[in-house]
Amino acid sequence: MTASTIHDLARPQVMPLPPYNAGLSSELVRSRYGATEISRLASNENPFGASPAVAEALTGLAQRLHNYPDAGGSALRRAIAMRCGAEPGQVVIGNGSEDILQMLCLALLSPGDRVLVQRPGFGLHEIFPRMMGAELDVLGLTPALEFDLDAWCEALARAPKIAFIANPSNPVGCMFDAAAFQRLLAATPAGTLLVIDEAYYEYARLAPGFPDALAALRDQRRPWIVLRTFSKGWGLAGLRVGYGIASDAALVQLLDRVRTPFNVNQPAQEAALAAWGDEAFMARATAQTVQFRQAMVARLNEVAWPGLRIAPSAANFLFIDLGRPNGPVNEALLAHGIIVKPWKEAGFENFIRVSVGLPEDNDRFLRALREIVSQQDADKPR
Ligand SMILES: *Cc1c(COP(=O)(O)O)cnc(C)c1O
Repeated sequence: MTASTIHDLARPQVMPLPPYNAGLSSELVRSRYGATEISRLASNENPFGASPAVAEALTGLAQRLHNYPDAGGSALRRAIAMRCGAEPGQVVIGNGSEDILQMLCLALLSPGDRVLVQRPGFGLHEIFPRMMGAELDVLGLTPALEFDLDAWCEALARAPKIAFIANPSNPVGCMFDAAAFQRLLAATPAGTLLVIDEAYYEYARLAPGFPDALAALRDQRRPWIVLRTFSKGWGLAGLRVGYGIASDAALVQLLDRVRTPFNVNQPAQEAALAAWGDEAFMARATAQTVQFRQAMVARLNEVAWPGLRIAPSAANFLFIDLGRPNGPVNEALLAHGIIVKPWKEAGFENFIRVSVGLPEDNDRFLRALREIVSQQDADKPR
């Protein structure tokens, strides 16, 4: 059998999809580059990890793995609803918030439906709609590496079926502030589903002016869903738990029809509930990360070279224009054992996204980057 036989079996939307770029594993960097010390700064993970309450909640786990998990995730949904000021029926949980993005596309999109997204943006905001045959309306950034609010308002007025708004943006880190968010709402026709992807909410809420999207949306007579995750600020990326607060229980029930019944496994539900119960741990970790991010920006600005630009960030990462192709810089960083995400999209080949890690990792990154750039400049023929 040949690959083309397989390809003939595929839906026409599937073959053109790019495989998700999940980056290099620590193992691979160790073996291919001979690096001994690895700094993982490519996936926006939380180096503080999860609350110790998680380890405690998971003791004896092996003894209760023979039962199916609660398909309704009721304890976790109740806890989330309570703190977010929603009804449990408005809460959907997923195997990561990416699972909920997929459910939304499965439940809502038919070929030809229009979906509004940002580029550069979160890959799955494009991949899942394309998988369903939807047409993308793609918005760019302003020259200052910010959201283009006017362009967003115009595009929203054209009534896409779904608008995916990552606030703050991944990979850029820019945000719509409260006033901008109100303008977005005012510009959106009542038939458009607003998906507000707040994967970095726990960091962004510390940024002056960050909107209380749930409060702003609550008074709206329109469909919306706010997505958040336990993967970033809560330090549980390995377990895969995300949640959404929807305008209506009817939307959650729609998603229930397309999700796999046991989409969030038992350890994940238990761990998320335990983490959720120790908000103070999350608050400390995220506040420290924001301080580390500010320190990184200050240090980069101290050594700034011509062409270096740092996008303003409300999240736990920085999007950096190196003013030179990212490929060679990335290779040199890997040789130092430092894993970042070099951006590949047209127009952004000079950018890397670097997660804010622990001070020793950030320091290793900053020192290596400075050394690599000086070396490249010294090697340049004049
Ligand atoms: C990380 C991320 C997610 C997905 O996180 P999960 O691990 O699937 O919960 C969703 N949206 C954005 C913008 C992200 O950066």
